[in-house]
Amino acid sequence: MPVTAMSERYDVAVVGAGVIALACAEELLTRGLSVGIVGAYAGDHAGQATRAAGAMLSTFSEIEPGHDNQRIAVETAERLAAHAAYPGWLERLSRHHAPALTMVPGTWVLAPAGRHEHLAPIAAAAREAGHPAEEHDARQIPGLQAPADIAGALWLPTEARIDSAALMDALARVVRRHPRAEWHDTTAAQVTTGRVRCADGSEVRAKQIVVAAGSATSSLLSDGGRAVGLPPVLAGRGASMVLHTPAVRLPYVVRTSNAAFACGAHLVPRADGSLYLGATNRLTTGHDHTRTATLDELSVLVREASMLLDARLASAELRGYRSGNRPYTLDHLPLLGRTADPSLLVATATYRCGIMLAPRIAALIADEITTAGALDDHPYRALRPMPTPQISKVLHGAGDALLEHLLQGGASLPAPMAEQLAGFVDLALRALLHDDCASGSALRRLWRSVPVIEAVPALFALPARMKDTTDGRH
Ligand SMILES: Cc1cc2nc3c(=O)[nH]c(=O)nc-3n(C[C@H](O)[C@H](O)[C@H](O)COP(=O)(O)OP(=O)(O)OC[C@H]3O[C@@H](n4cnc5c(N)ncnc54)[C@H](O)[C@@H]3O)c2cc1C
Repeated sequence: MPVTAMSERYDVAVVGAGVIALACAEELLTRGLSVGIVGAYAGDHAGQATRAAGAMLSTFSEIEPGHDNQRIAVETAERLAAHAAYPGWLERLSRHHAPALTMVPGTWVLAPAGRHEHLAPIAAAAREAGHPAEEHDARQIPGLQAPADIAGALWLPTEARIDSAALMDALARVVRRHPRAEWHDTTAAQVTTGRVRCADGSEVRAKQIVVAAGSATSSLLSDGGRAVGLPPVLAGRGASMVLHTPAVRLPYVVRTSNAAFACGAHLVPRADGSLYLGATNRLTTGHDHTRTATLDELSVLVREASMLLDARLASAELRGYRSGNRPYTLDHLPLLGRTADPSLLVATATYRCGIMLAPRIAALIADEITTAGALDDHPYRALRPMPTPQISKVLHGAGDALLEHLLQGGASLPAPMAEQLAGFVDLALRALLHDDCASGSALRRLWRSVPVIEAVPALFALPARMKDTTDGRH
């Protein structure tokens, strides 16, 4: 039998090597605990979300018109708490890192043609929190030649960015050098009560374990996390690029509002003069989380950049590209804290805002580790009720979103056609997924009365016609 190496018992073992794992480890060390980290230290970190991210610190600009008020209130409160924690956190990390890490404030949010209403909930949330939000002419954006058909531009002077590579470099260095930390440069194969079984045959034991392995979190837990009461952790694969062009020099982040299931097209200026361009978002159910970006994803980014942001980007030099898996769960909110196994915690599902939320999440996890029950009432607690979402609720606006996805890169349809297609897709999805859908019966009635191929355009147009009739009645 092979001899299994057994490391000493830590106060806490943290599994993962992205921003969430390292932020948690650093906070726990700051609070005087001993920490064993299990995750890759070196290498290219393929598939890691953190290193593929633009690192916008989006306090407000991730809000979408479809988000309900309760979700906006909860998420904005957490993002504001993170925003407040950031300067102190960076100062702490900068004591061991040169040059000092800084957040650079200033974000422009563009509403592409036909989407002006996307700016209103962002501006409202900012103003409600006492932060400025000013609408300007897109031609006033410094360094940018925005397309002529941009519907509006919102200036958020307090919404910031950070350099994610410098942040990860500092975090890894601070954690690795800490006298109460040990970094196990391997991966976890399985996590059970008090033990992390590692891929290299060793075992790491700890009083409490925090699994923060991003989109791989479920796969490390018994029965995919169901055994400890967790919902699934999904992966939203995102591709991004780094560009160089002397033509486009931006002092601030420029992004579109969220669209096509993703965080819009965005440009994040880097300190070395390059420009980060992100990002796509595609649910991935495959097991190879280290797959690199596809040509299709990169071509979407290229088209988005030149059609929605600045046509001059088409001639930029490509300096690099990455892809990473954003971890998320069914209600799109983070999963934090104790599972049904009291010694096992998770910190994940940060979706599109993990870098923004990192210091806040680290503090919440450390609170729960040092005082069991501290997160019992927190909206992100891991064991919150998560009923299977109703199809009709999930699919609200799905037709429009699918259309945005299909037309990514600036393609367009005449407005009436777009409305018909979106309406049809909405209805077809509901009918396919067997929701109780009254209007589905109208489609079936029409089909029964004219079961010929020529009925297809009429079927296609029916949902939009029915919507017009209903709207007209009100
Ligand atoms: C293209 C893109 C753009 C984004 N832009 C932004 C942005 O502008 N602002 C923002 O705030 N957020 C952004 N995000 C989201 C953000 O990157 C994530 O929410 C955050 O990085 C998640 O951090 P994490 O540590 O949980 O996961 P990850 O960064 O994915 O890290 C998980 C780590 O766990 C490791 N791991 C996996 N399996 C194991 C195992 N078995 N054992 C040990 N370790 C393991 C992985 O190798 C990886 O290093 C973006 C994401 C993407 C993909």
